[in-house]
Amino acid sequence: MPSVPPDDAPALHVEKLDVTYGRALSALRSVSLDVPHGAVVALLGANGAGKTTLLRAVSGTLRLHRGAITAGGVRYGDTVLDGRDPVTAVRAGVVQVPEGRRVFALFPRLAERTRQAAGLLSGGEQQMLAIGRALMAAPRLLLLDEPSLGLAPMMVDRIAEVVREINAGGTAVLLVEQNAGMALSLAERAHVLEVGEVRLSGDAAELARTDAVRRLYLGETADGAGGLDGRGAA
Ligand code: ATP
Repeated sequence: MPSVPPDDAPALHVEKLDVTYGRALSALRSVSLDVPHGAVVALLGANGAGKTTLLRAVSGTLRLHRGAITAGGVRYGDTVLDGRDPVTAVRAGVVQVPEGRRVFALFPRLAERTRQAAGLLSGGEQQMLAIGRALMAAPRLLLLDEPSLGLAPMMVDRIAEVVREINAGGTAVLLVEQNAGMALSLAERAHVLEVGEVRLSGDAAELARTDAVRRLYLGETADGAGGLDGRGAA
């Protein structure tokens, strides 16, 4: 690998990544994906598919969860991120907004609520707060973990707008979502993880038209069963 990547090199490059938890549970197997500079890339998949694990591998937080990269690599530009700590990722401009909105920060919309405990904010407000806190680190790549989780449709639309605004400012976004409709409307490219492996990858608009994605992730399923090949997702 050259020490200085070419200009058109992807910002984030994940190559053939294997991750295990507690030395035994295999959570990701040979996962590869890129996030180009300034792009929005969606990562879709059912519960337990490995989406959060991938974000942890990128942000250097796997070790905090007793996970480890056992093969493959993660690079942001010319910075190697695999096997490094979260500080390395943040210094390189890669910042994760964790699932679950563990937050307390500032956000313009919330200025009048500074005396209020974060737990009393609505779900949407908490999510904005989480994103706002991450933005304080001025990321070049934002890792968003299910920002629409548990939110009412109007709030989901607002979160989508916020992601668009952030991206318009030049920040790339790797967007983990179970809400495929929202994610595919924002992303240029998307990947579908199933039980730790990438099962589909491609242009987001094209993926939104594929039968498997429409059936399994866009609410057009007749029986709700099975994985992309009918085997059943975790
Ligand atoms: P969700 O949408 O439910 O958050 P996900 O696609 O983000 O799911 P992960 O949370 O990455 O999936 O989990 C992938 C696999 O790794 C699952 O089998 C999960 O049980 C397991 N796993 C996740 N975190 C740990 C951990 N700290 N220790 C052991 N196993 C874990």
